[in-house]
Amino acid sequence: MKLDLLAIAPHPDDVELHCGGLLLKMADQGYKTGIVDLSRGEMGTRGTVADRNNEADLAAKILQTEVRLNLDLPDSQIGWDHKHTLDVVEVIRRCQPDLLLIPHETARHPDHRNASTLAWDSAFLAGLEKITTHHPAFRPKQIIFYYTHYTYRDIGPSFIVDISLYFDRKQKALKAFKSQFYDPESTEPETFISRPEFLDEIEAQNRYYGSLIGVKHGEPYIIREHLAIDDPVAYFK
Ligand SMILES: [Zn+2]
Repeated sequence: MKLDLLAIAPHPDDVELHCGGLLLKMADQGYKTGIVDLSRGEMGTRGTVADRNNEADLAAKILQTEVRLNLDLPDSQIGWDHKHTLDVVEVIRRCQPDLLLIPHETARHPDHRNASTLAWDSAFLAGLEKITTHHPAFRPKQIIFYYTHYTYRDIGPSFIVDISLYFDRKQKALKAFKSQFYDPESTEPETFISRPEFLDEIEAQNRYYGSLIGVKHGEPYIIREHLAIDDPVAYFK
C-alpha cells in the first residue's frame, strides 16, 4: 500500500470532525488517502462499538478513502504502553504516507494529547532501520497537525485549506456517526458533541477560517517547520 496522505486519530469521528474536508479534497484530486483510528471509542458515553464500526465504515465511503484501519488500542489509555508505539510504527510503514495528519497536542481529551505525541514519535521511529517490524523502514515527508477543540483558542494556523466545495460532504460524513451527534430520537445521555448546536459550531469554525482566506469554508492546519516558498511572484499571483 502506498498512500499520499494518512490521517491518524484517537477515536472514530475525530478525522471527520477536524480534517474531513481536506481528505475529501485530496481524494477528489486523485490522491490516495487513508484513516487510522487508534481505538474503537469504546469508552464513549453514547453508542456501542458495533455502532461506531458501522458508522466509521459509512463515513470512510463518503470520504472516499482507500483504507480505514483500526489499531484497537484501549480508548482512554492511548500511548500508555510501548507496544502502542510499535503498532503505530508498523501502520505508518504499511501505508507509506507522504503526508501524515495527526491531532495537535493542545487538546482537551488526554487521548488526543497522547495520540499527538505517539504519532509524532512513531513517524520518526518508523524511519529507523534497526527497529524491525513486518514492513521496511519508512518515514513520512511531512507531519501536519489538525486542530481539535482547544487548539481553536490557543494557536494560529500555519495554513488554511479552502474546503468550500467539500463542506456539505464533510457534514454528511460527520452525520454518519449518528450515535455521537444530535439525534432527536436518541434516549442516550447528552454529551458535549451531541448537543444540537455542536454541528453548527463546527460550521462556524470552518466559516471563520474560510473568512481569513476569503472563501466560504476553511480548515486550519499547523506545521512545526517554516513553509518555504521558491517563487513568491508566482505564489501570490
Ligand atoms: Zn476523539
